[in-house]
Amino acid sequence: MNMSEEPRPLASKIKITTNPETPGTSHKHIGFYRHYSSFVFKSLNKPTFQRFLQWMLKKENIQERKVTEVHVKVFPLRRGKGKGLAGNCNPACGKIRIYPKTMTFCQAFKQKFGKNTFLAYAASRARAALIHELLHLKYATDEKRVRKLSREYFFAFARRALYRDRLSFLSYTMIFMVRQAKPFNHYNTNVASALSIKL
Ligand SMILES: [Zn+2]
Repeated sequence: MNMSEEPRPLASKIKITTNPETPGTSHKHIGFYRHYSSFVFKSLNKPTFQRFLQWMLKKENIQERKVTEVHVKVFPLRRGKGKGLAGNCNPACGKIRIYPKTMTFCQAFKQKFGKNTFLAYAASRARAALIHELLHLKYATDEKRVRKLSREYFFAFARRALYRDRLSFLSYTMIFMVRQAKPFNHYNTNVASALSIKL
């Protein structure tokens, strides 16, 4: 089966929606938040993550049809000076909302850790938020349980991703070593793998 033909029922429910923006939000801010929401949208729709969610819903016995809509909100939820909310869920109607971090936070983060780390963080934060809110469909107001399970499930997803990358790296090295078997005959294995890593 082609990856694009894979059933991803949850993906069809994810949409980007604008919420009332903070008064005084400049065009630069609007541009930033639009980019952010489309990046989050793509991250949540990745087949690897969708497959993981399907596995989790099945394991938790949460029926996929209980989720009616997942809204990726363009602007952060204003909550005074408190910690920004990553998401919320209405278990009665199955509506989930995912919110971004503020632009001020994101810029400071990017300056400190770099763009790639920031993107990885933004994707992980949205994925963790969706995992958390999906669990609320089953555990409703049991916040303690939802938090514990969210952490475990997110760890399971991150570990799978790492495992996959390691595996693809290993197969890449193996393919390269097979191709180069003859010229490397006189090297020991360590030298050969060191050379293959350079590519
Ligand atoms: Zn919660």
